[in-house]
Amino acid sequence: MFLTPDPRYVKSDAIILRRTDYSETSYVVALLTREQGVMHGLAKGARRPKSIFEGEIDLLTRGQATILVRPRTGLHLLTEFSCRERYLALRKSADSTTAALYAAEVAADASPEGEGQPEIYDLLSETLTRLAEGDTAAALAFFQVHLLKLSGYMPNLGECAVCGAKIEGAQVVFSFIHSGPTCAQCSSEEDRCTTISRAAVSVIEGLARMPASGAARVRIPAALARETVTFLAGAIAAAFEREPRMLRPLMKAMARRKA
Ligand SMILES: [Zn+2]
Repeated sequence: MFLTPDPRYVKSDAIILRRTDYSETSYVVALLTREQGVMHGLAKGARRPKSIFEGEIDLLTRGQATILVRPRTGLHLLTEFSCRERYLALRKSADSTTAALYAAEVAADASPEGEGQPEIYDLLSETLTRLAEGDTAAALAFFQVHLLKLSGYMPNLGECAVCGAKIEGAQVVFSFIHSGPTCAQCSSEEDRCTTISRAAVSVIEGLARMPASGAARVRIPAALARETVTFLAGAIAAAFEREPRMLRPLMKAMARRKA
């Protein structure tokens, strides 16, 4: 007999973004699913000992989720979650935990419910592996560049966003209003701007030329990687018009490493 999949269920690889207590016995779990974007599911009985979820539902673990979709409430039922990867090494340092939570949050911003972004999902999953290996800033810079590319927000750093003139010089002025660099003629004091070094621009252009699955090969000097991460975090917040909750902790971590 041939069994057709039940359309009421979503089965997808998923990463756990948040887990909140819902009742004495249950959690509400926010998941980034590979196929359907962010989904919220009630995990009934998950707080009970000997539940089928025991030890499976933890922040930033990746696994196979089965979700019974309840379109009327938006709060679905998580009926199964079998963990495939726990990224345990992420928990060893505060900086890698912060970077991982930031990456998961912005990947979720780019993948609202019903708009699964499998390439962004795979990028996040590889980035978590890379962050667990300890190379925080370089792995995060790679993630940020490819997140911007995959979501269609990658600025052209070679030319003025206003007039198209070639951008030259050791320092590049980037306008958050124009989502790109501005030349001396087009820069205005009213603009919300930041300045980045030519070296960081070259890092970003180099990362952008790599395939999104190339995360394992990146090597960037530490200070330059931190400058790149700090700039890209601002560009991502401007592109999505939302300041991630993990932005400030991330900026603090990047500044602390400098000292
Ligand atoms: Zn210009």
